[in-house]
Amino acid sequence: IEVDIEDKPEQLKPRAPVVTIMGHVDHGKTTLLDVIRKSDVVAGEAGGITQHIGAYTISFPHPERKNELQQITFLDTPGHAAFSAMRARGANVTDIVVLVVAANDGVMPQTLEALSHAQAAKAEIMVAVNKVDHPNANPMRVRQQLQEKGLVCEEWGGKTLFVDVSAITKQGVDKLLEAILLQAEIMELKANPDRRAKGNVIESGLEPGGPTATVLVRKGTLHLGDVVICGPFYGKVRALINEENKRLKEAGPSVAVKLLGLNGVPEAGLEFTVEENEKEARDIAEKRTMEARAMGQEARAK
Ligand code: GDP
Repeated sequence: IEVDIEDKPEQLKPRAPVVTIMGHVDHGKTTLLDVIRKSDVVAGEAGGITQHIGAYTISFPHPERKNELQQITFLDTPGHAAFSAMRARGANVTDIVVLVVAANDGVMPQTLEALSHAQAAKAEIMVAVNKVDHPNANPMRVRQQLQEKGLVCEEWGGKTLFVDVSAITKQGVDKLLEAILLQAEIMELKANPDRRAKGNVIESGLEPGGPTATVLVRKGTLHLGDVVICGPFYGKVRALINEENKRLKEAGPSVAVKLLGLNGVPEAGLEFTVEENEKEARDIAEKRTMEARAMGQEARAK
């Protein structure tokens, strides 16, 4: 049984919202994620060299206090499969789901599937009505269709934020980001950065340098040299790399980083924690491996 100390209210500090963009195929999720990434007002330091690690963080001015930059982390693991895999492991890492609906097509089967995933994950839902530049765009029809599913827009007295956008002409994209920040402010998202880090795997793989895992830190701060345990794997953090290919010394709440140093490739959704030392981590990892084996044998015996 895991003992997780409750953080005291005074230890909690504001953290960036974690956002997932979902919706029907071809409604513009990938294009929108690309445009949003380029809206980062402090990007460019790395010369525009970016890599896909499964998530990225942008800085954007607060809608009312323009000189105050705020951060938003987007998960860009495409498709609902990744989202479901995470949820299956109890990893509700997303604060806000932006449901993308193409204004010309309207609500489609995967729109409703995305909606039910988002509701099950208890994420706050916002709607981006995309492709408003399209000659057959009908943004009002999208509002009507979603009203029938219980998402009533603010204009009609409801609580759901709808923003009309075009990922092609870029119109409305800034408004969408501002709406996300306003929604996040209402949610008062907080975490204690001054504790051992804890979070979830977003993506993982095997690279020439060894196993890699992009982890989203939910609580605490992850440091180089920390001993991380993740499912049956463990190891000392050798490198933390962000989406701009920068090597970081640490990563705090709501930040996603690619981690090098684990002795295996953990599945997406798995939780990671930081342990006191390598011996402790190895003991826990070995115990988990043995338990998994025993469960496998039991299953085969049936
Ligand atoms: P995804 O499957 O949801 O990731 O959709 P994509 O981002 O791949 O977009 C599907 C198609 O719609 C592509 O041909 C895009 O160029 C096009 N598209 C995306 N956003 C817009 C938009 O705002 N307006 C128009 N007219 N086309 C768009």
